[in-house]
Parts: sequence; structure tokens; C-alpha cells
Amino acid sequence: MSQLRNEIAAIIAAEGPISVERFMALALGHPRYGYYMTRDPFGRAGDFITAPEVSQMFGELIGLWAASVWQTMGAPERLILVELGPGRGTLMADLLRAGRVMPGFIEAAEVHLVETSPVLRAAQKASLAGRVATAHWHDRVEDLPPGPAVIVANEFFDALPVRQFVRQGGVWRERLVGLDAEGRLVFGLAAEPEPRLTQQAREGAVLEVPLVGHGIMRTLAQRLVSDGGALLAIDYGHVATGTGDTLQAMKNHKPVDPLAEPGEADLTAHVDFAALGRAALAAGAVLQGPVTQRVFLEALGLGVRAERLQRSATPEQARAIAGQYQRLVEGGRTGMGELFKVMAVTHPDLPMLPGFDRLTTPARASGEEP
Ligand code: SAH
Repeated sequence: MSQLRNEIAAIIAAEGPISVERFMALALGHPRYGYYMTRDPFGRAGDFITAPEVSQMFGELIGLWAASVWQTMGAPERLILVELGPGRGTLMADLLRAGRVMPGFIEAAEVHLVETSPVLRAAQKASLAGRVATAHWHDRVEDLPPGPAVIVANEFFDALPVRQFVRQGGVWRERLVGLDAEGRLVFGLAAEPEPRLTQQAREGAVLEVPLVGHGIMRTLAQRLVSDGGALLAIDYGHVATGTGDTLQAMKNHKPVDPLAEPGEADLTAHVDFAALGRAALAAGAVLQGPVTQRVFLEALGLGVRAERLQRSATPEQARAIAGQYQRLVEGGRTGMGELFKVMAVTHPDLPMLPGFDRLTTPARASGEEP
């Protein structure tokens, strides 16, 4: 039984049932026992794998994207280059290596990482050693310095806590985590309905409200509007707002009960790109996409890059590169090409950016609601 489970049970025993948002925040971010605070969860031996860990080509293409956006911004002398939730720091390391092809970009870039986990901060430091003279770490986006910025976020917004509401008897009640008679964590519903939610839905529908993510997006969109720049969000999610319970726990690459072992399994909720986009629009920023990860990466030349790498590789390496390429662009349950969406949030004066400018197939809004 996890230590964090006992801590959460004690909180509930003292204060009553807690929101899903608070549960998620504790499970992932509890200073002592939170999932990200205690471990490096990535890779084959970990609980899940992310695109930068699948292939260096991913971070390299985002590096070329960032350098090209910097140039489009008028090549400012000082660029605040930000990554949100950088994990092992692999994406930023690959980005900086590839960004060297654009003269002046690396010299202009001041690297800022928003990361709450001390374990992952240490991993990021190791990944970036020798790649940049200095990097700066922050707990919150509010602490980032002002100035023109390029901000990258891969699988960051899906790790932020969400509130959940369930339609019952014609009203919305918040979904809570409480204790049953045997002291097990169980889901329940608030006794009082939520008066601010007025939309209609069928009985039993689940509505997710990602206030934390929207607050972060609002803060970042405001600074992009006042100081210039662009943000790139890549995440598991859907392009149209819908209802559905997307809370998902993963351990050893398999889904597990989200309440069973808090702090021992990764916990995510799908990103509602339409709602995230509205938070950015409300701050005066402009949206590009969302498009599927496949469309984005192919537009940036992933296929060409993979082929070029394969040409100078051994047959075994070439097979590995082909597999990585497939994983990044493939559809279906195992591929990342369609489940993942890419959206840019920009200053209103920026033109269409690479990956969004040669659109033939925008991300479909149908058939993939949670
Ligand atoms: N971008 C990386 C890691 C994704 S996992 C990759 O693609 O491999 C989510 C990352 O966000 C982790 O680094 C985690 O520690 C960080 N994180 C989660 N919640 C956070 C928060 N509220 N503030 C800052 N970082 C957070």
C-alpha cells in the first residue's frame, strides 16, 4: 500500500472527501511522495514513453521550428526559450543541438525550464550539460522573466490536475474522492450541485474542468501578446470539447485503477484543445492548429529526415529509425500520430508558422471524443 494513499486517507478522514483536482495534485506533486517528485518515470523500464524519448528526430524538428519562429519574430537579440515540464531534458537537448544550424539562434536563446520535480530537474541538468552555458529553473510560469519567448510544452498540460463533474438528476455534482467503510479510496459525488455549470448533458455524463491548465495558458498567452513570441503545445487530447471521464493512470505501460496506488502510477487527463485555445484567445493571442502530430511532423520534414538518417546507418539502425518514425506518425491505439495534437498560440502579428502553414488535413473533430 502506498505511503501517499495513507496520507490522502488521513486528509479525507480529517477534512472530508477531496476533489479529483486535489487528489491528482497530491498524487503527482506531493512534495514527499508525489509521482513526479520521487522518480524518473520515462522509457521502457518506466511507466510510459514520450515522443522525445522515442526518437531524437522529434526534439530536432522542434529545434528547427523554434529557430525558424525566432527568425520570423525578427531575430530578437535575447530570446526567452522556455520548456514546460521538460521530463528528462531530452527534447531541450535535441532542440539545442539542431538549433545550431540557424546562425545566431543559440547565442540569443536564454534557456528557462518550468519544473516542479527535484529528481527531474537533476536529470535535465545532466542532459543539458555542455549544451548551454546556463539554464534557469522555475516552479511556476509566473516566475519566468519578461521578453520575447518561444515556449514548448510536450505532454505538460495532460499532467495538470482537473476538476470533474457528473450529471445527476438534472444537475452537475463535483466528483470527489472519499473513503469507504473499509478505509479504501472511492469516488463519490458532492451533496450540493455546482450552480455555475448550466450546460445540458445526458444523465451520468462527466465534465472535466482544467482550471489549473487554463490559468497557466492565460498567463503565458498574456505575455506572448505583450512581449511577443509563440507557444507550442503537444499533447494527448481532443480538438472539440465533449464530455467523458479521461482520468487515466499508467504503471509499467499498462492502465491501472487511478485510486489504487496514488504516487506510484502516472495520472493524466486528456487535453481539451478547444477549451485550452479559448483560454489563450481570451487573452488576445492567436491560435494555429490544432493539427495531428502526424501532420505537424510530416510538414516539418520528418519523413525526409528519417530517410537521410537511414542512409548513413547500419541495417539494424535503419530498422530502428523506421520503427521510431512509425511510432511518431502512426494512427491507432499504439501510434502517436493521431492521438497527439499540436497547437500553437502566438502573438497576433506572427504569420502562419512551420507545421501549420501547409495544411491539407486539419485534425478531425469526429470519432475521437473521450
Ligand atoms: N516533456 C517531457 C515530460 C512529460 S511528463 C517529455 O515529453 O518527455 C510531465 C512533466 O511535467 C514532468 O517533467 C513533470 O515533472 C512536469 N510537471 C508536472 N506538473 C507540473 C507543474 N505543475 N509544474 C511544472 N512542471 C510540472
